[in-house]
Amino acid sequence: MSYSLSSDVIETSEKIAFPSVSVVVPIYNEVESLSHLIEAIATTLAKNELDYEIICVDDGSQDGSTEMLRQLARDRTDLKAVILRRNYGQTPAMAAGFQYARGRVIATLDGDLQNDPGDIPLLLSKLDEGYDLVSGWRKQRQDDALTRLLPSKMANWLIGQVTGVKLHDYGCSLKVYRAELIADMNLYGELHRFLPALAYIEGARIAELPVRHYARRYGQSKYGLGRTFRVLMDLLTIYFMKKFLTKPMHGFGLFGLISMLLGTVLGVYLTFLKLGLGQSIGNRPLLILAVLLFLCGIQLFSFGLLAELMMRTYHESQKRPIYRVREIIE
Ligand code: UDP
Ligand code: MG
Repeated sequence: MSYSLSSDVIETSEKIAFPSVSVVVPIYNEVESLSHLIEAIATTLAKNELDYEIICVDDGSQDGSTEMLRQLARDRTDLKAVILRRNYGQTPAMAAGFQYARGRVIATLDGDLQNDPGDIPLLLSKLDEGYDLVSGWRKQRQDDALTRLLPSKMANWLIGQVTGVKLHDYGCSLKVYRAELIADMNLYGELHRFLPALAYIEGARIAELPVRHYARRYGQSKYGLGRTFRVLMDLLTIYFMKKFLTKPMHGFGLFGLISMLLGTVLGVYLTFLKLGLGQSIGNRPLLILAVLLFLCGIQLFSFGLLAELMMRTYHESQKRPIYRVREIIE
């Protein structure tokens, strides 16, 4: 066992040189599911003669999942367990898994047996048709209708409207990606749900396939209704990123200018009334409106400039190009 500064990675002695598929699974208190899950993934991938590795990220479990993973990783050559220091949440857990994945293709699924690993080969062959991301669609989803299906239906519709990526089911964890695509994306907060949207911003080709879905057999769901609100906030972030990531001034600057212009026109009109016609304007609501519009305009405009600076820092500090190359033909 070896300890590193950031997290504890348990590796088996024999490594698969470069697996073609890395299966990344976030695990938070899923002790009863673990061995079934890993067995199922291994069986289906081996049956399809795929080179694979399984990367389970233990997200600070307290139910014995950690010890179970330690045990399993010791006995298997195809399993790598990444143990995080505490519970960070599903997105950081997945990000950790992506970091240790070495496959050319990365598959993700939940650790609670709600997804069927048997669907991974289907998604992979779809990916082979020339997509960068293939997302599962839980067509017959086995979750509670009122607390899960309804909010999810609304969220899916809204996400589709806002991001311009038309999928039936964003929440499905069962997805496969080309590794280059993952390398281009940074994950924050709870953004894993928006990976297709982020991928779309990065210019990815995206497909969706119906997959199987089962009711949770062991343990319990880690989420409640509060998630809906957080999803909405994340959606706003995504919307902003999609719209203004490289050109915030186009949004804020324009509104700022319009607002300033309206304020100026009203101001000129009021000045004319005062100086030209000698009317009193001190008690007119229009005066307040004119001043407000002008001030808001300046604020929006300067906010746009600031955002522009921040976006540049964002791109340059990370050496993020503002374009993505799909391929180079010589
Ligand atoms: N999960 C995690 N960290 C968390 C919450 C969840 O790694 O803080 C994992 C969890 O173990 C499961 C997956 O993320 O493998 C999805 O969680 P869950 O099944 O509770 O979500 P649901 O299917 O109810 O939407
Ligand atoms: Mg689940």
